[in-house]
Amino acid sequence: MTLIPWKPVDSFLHNTTDPVLTSHRPCPVCGTDRPREILRLDDFQFFTDSATLPKRTTICEVQCAACYALYLNPAYTSRGFEVLFAEAGCSYGATEGRPQEQIRWLTEMGLLNDGSSILDVGCYDGRFLSLLPATVRRIGVDIDNPAIERGRALYGDQGIDLVHGDFNSFQLDRKPDTITMFHVLEHLPSPLATLKNLRNQGHENTSLVVEVPILENGFTNDINSFFSAQHMTHFSKNSLNNVLARAGWELAGQLEQSDYNGYRVLAKPAGTTSQANANPEDDTTLKNLLKHRRDAIDKAKANLATIGDAEKIVVWGGGMHTEFLYHLTDVFGGQHNRQFFIVDSDPLKQGKSWRGINIEAPESISKIDWTGANLLISSYGGQEKIAECADGMGVPTSVIVKVYETIRVY
Ligand SMILES: [Zn+2]
Repeated sequence: MTLIPWKPVDSFLHNTTDPVLTSHRPCPVCGTDRPREILRLDDFQFFTDSATLPKRTTICEVQCAACYALYLNPAYTSRGFEVLFAEAGCSYGATEGRPQEQIRWLTEMGLLNDGSSILDVGCYDGRFLSLLPATVRRIGVDIDNPAIERGRALYGDQGIDLVHGDFNSFQLDRKPDTITMFHVLEHLPSPLATLKNLRNQGHENTSLVVEVPILENGFTNDINSFFSAQHMTHFSKNSLNNVLARAGWELAGQLEQSDYNGYRVLAKPAGTTSQANANPEDDTTLKNLLKHRRDAIDKAKANLATIGDAEKIVVWGGGMHTEFLYHLTDVFGGQHNRQFFIVDSDPLKQGKSWRGINIEAPESISKIDWTGANLLISSYGGQEKIAECADGMGVPTSVIVKVYETIRVY
């Protein structure tokens, strides 16, 4: 029988950071440079250990003192994004989840009429465009060149035009009737510059559809809270409206989804641009959200206390959620002298380590003697599915530890 290589946390000593990963920026919404720090995690590690690549940086979330916009500062540079998110498992440009609902809505809004043209910004490999009617002229732009190349091979013969370009400077030879941007704007270092370029690439009646998660619907129970480390701006309704108005767009419609955090707006070209307004409600909502976050972390800590004196912990999940557990709870630290082992179904992580702890495929679980050991599920959205999986693999229910009592999407 193969022995499990149990390891203490932080037993790999060669992880580093590098200033090229991040850079300071003024408020991405109003341009003022008066950040107020609201959350900070030093030496945050992005996925597996590396002696050659700098995989750690400070995550600092700030509030703009002038307009109340929330943003990551410093922000990831393009090099930072490339190094830190290489193992994130999906391109940030990929359209999240709900293409059928999005297409129904675009159709109802009259934005997919025969002979019209649509530009998808952050199109990844063009998979969303490939689902739209062929009677619409379909164009996509993305900064991810390998994804564009793959998309051309996949969908080139369907008449879909895929363009590799920078969102702030790409140019089209024909102005689109509709521009879509689903869950992209929150990932960009300079959303204003992108929205200005879209204004210039559109005609006087172009419809712009933008969808982002918003602060108002960000009351998740996840210890990671609303402040996803993958998002560079954490929009509210007001800050989204502000950045649109500064770029020369005005609101023509809006839609909130009931079952997930996606706030969709329809914007039209405005005659002028206007400056950002501060809405004090954003400040109140932030204070409530930060309290909700502290409560969520306290509940997680209480659930983790059931681990008691267990000296061995198998962590199911070697992703960013485990890094948040490391920073926000004492499961890896404190007075404990624990030994760990991680399992994860993602082949990008298997055979590597996180903070010195080995990561293997979930099948390794069958080799474990559960005497004095617990299985800790480290995932928010995937918690219940992992619990079922572990149960199916014969892990005793009494050793399975969940971080969350309930999972809510927003
Ligand atoms: Zn601001």
